[in-house]
Amino acid sequence: MAPLAWIGHQLQLNENPYGPPPSVREALSAALSSANRYPEFLPQRLPRLIAERLGVAPDCIVVGAGATGVIMHIVQEFGSGGSSVVMAVPTFDGYPILTAMAGGRPVTVPLMLDGRQDLDAIAEAVDEQTRLVVLCSPHNPTGTLITPPEFEKFLLRIPPAVTVVLDEAYVDFVAPGERIDVLTLLDEHPNLLVLRTFSKAYGLAALRVGYAVGAPALIERVARWQLPFGMNALAEVAVRACYAAEPEIAERVTVIGEHRRRLTAGLRELGLCVPDSYANFSYLTLPGPDIDRVGTALAGANIHVKHYPTGLRITVGDRVATDAVLHTVRSTVQ
Ligand code: PMP
Repeated sequence: MAPLAWIGHQLQLNENPYGPPPSVREALSAALSSANRYPEFLPQRLPRLIAERLGVAPDCIVVGAGATGVIMHIVQEFGSGGSSVVMAVPTFDGYPILTAMAGGRPVTVPLMLDGRQDLDAIAEAVDEQTRLVVLCSPHNPTGTLITPPEFEKFLLRIPPAVTVVLDEAYVDFVAPGERIDVLTLLDEHPNLLVLRTFSKAYGLAALRVGYAVGAPALIERVARWQLPFGMNALAEVAVRACYAAEPEIAERVTVIGEHRRRLTAGLRELGLCVPDSYANFSYLTLPGPDIDRVGTALAGANIHVKHYPTGLRITVGDRVATDAVLHTVRSTVQ
């Protein structure tokens, strides 16, 4: 095979550096021969499969074309007509972009200096115009975590008529003991929607599968916006195969966690500021002029990362990518 060196290290989209396990690839290859057939008119089997896995009723799940697709439907339902959607800044780009597309108004609350979302300021930004508020844990781009007590306290401050999205796109990278017990909270808070994706830990970004879990009444309102025949038929095949390959997926998550620790520690050894990350990326906090300098050096070494006004977000790649990042940053800052 021709060398792919020209592609360089693609560390700007928080993708999984590893392709699907062999059993998932085999399932997908076998499914290709049915590519002449439409998927379900509206997805039934995929939500059932996910619900079974989580131990919830199928009507508690709505799927979409990635978590992005689900977010689109959420903002269409709750963030249109000029109503305000409260979120941190920076956050996952999809939130401000899709809110504006749906005719809503993003109300943004700066992150705290340590990279965490300012839950007090976010709760205070909720007013009569607010119908939706979004938190991410781990947060994108800083990788910081909201603790269970912080989140529970936050929920109690939000009026029941305001929908709260907890985006857990990266939750599989968080140690089980540190996760928020979302299923219990969903029973107590019918205004809560928890968002997950198969794009990150499961490595299925190309296939576009995400879902929300929540109370049936809320899920039904989101599902109203689903496009007929809109879900990729291969998504269900891939999710089913991934669930059957859980040990291999878990092994990849463990390896990515080890590389994240090495990347974070290596950057800190250079005297740089990196918040503790619980996701598959590290955030290098830098003074303004250094962001361009370090970013340009990385781009010169064919390493592509995402730039923010306060730093660089670097996706955790494989060992070679981590070595390349550390080598380039070292030679730039020393
Ligand atoms: N939420 C967060 C916090 C993300 O970072 C991303 C993707 N980077 C998404 C949602 C969307 O992921 P996808 O559409 O691939 O499921």
